[in-house]
Amino acid sequence: MNFIFLGPPGAGKGTLAKQAAQVYGIPHISTGDIFRENIKNQTELGKKVDAIIKSGGLVSDDITCELVKDRLSKPDTKNGYILDGFPRTIPQAEALESFAKIDAAVNFDIADEAVVERLGGRVCCKECGQMFHVKFNPPKQAGKCDKCGGELYTRDDDKTESIQNRLVVYRKSTAPLIDFYKNKGNLVDIDARPAPEAILAEFEKKFPKK
Ligand code: AMP
Repeated sequence: MNFIFLGPPGAGKGTLAKQAAQVYGIPHISTGDIFRENIKNQTELGKKVDAIIKSGGLVSDDITCELVKDRLSKPDTKNGYILDGFPRTIPQAEALESFAKIDAAVNFDIADEAVVERLGGRVCCKECGQMFHVKFNPPKQAGKCDKCGGELYTRDDDKTESIQNRLVVYRKSTAPLIDFYKNKGNLVDIDARPAPEAILAEFEKKFPKK
């Protein structure tokens, strides 16, 4: 199946997408991860989007759609995929329709206060991108990734001013996608408050593996 994961930053889309991708054997495609990888490698694209991402704003629709179109043309997407963080605007969703067929838009339902609390304590591995939370999911050793031993850091866009900006941007530009997909009849709500294992169990119940 071809999924898109919708929801505010910090709702747990990335965490579920990583787990579900393994369970269903389909790729997890995160536009945020692709941008961060480009920034890390200082590519032309990375240099273009660096400041926007740090501020919590959105990269242009043209750049983002081109990137996703290219990624979805790769053979590993043949049996399905999870798009995490794309589309984020109505024009992106409209563009997506011209090059992909989405089976389900999974909407991660969570209040703003919970998002602020989650993002506020989030740390990320510099090497492998694994996320931890200083309160809800702390690493075994402070500052060090459990998976690969890499150094943990706070993403620039997880700093307080950027979090507020990302929420404003989400409500204004991305939340209208909920109605967009509801009207198409393929919106599926998921309660994003429980622990990741419970969310994965709910997801598997809603989308039994074929
Ligand atoms: P994420 O990891 O999904 O929270 O994305 C991190 C940042 O990458 C966002 O705050 C945006 O600046 C940028 N970004 C990711 N996906 C998109 C998108 N679909 N459209 C525009 N900007 C995006």
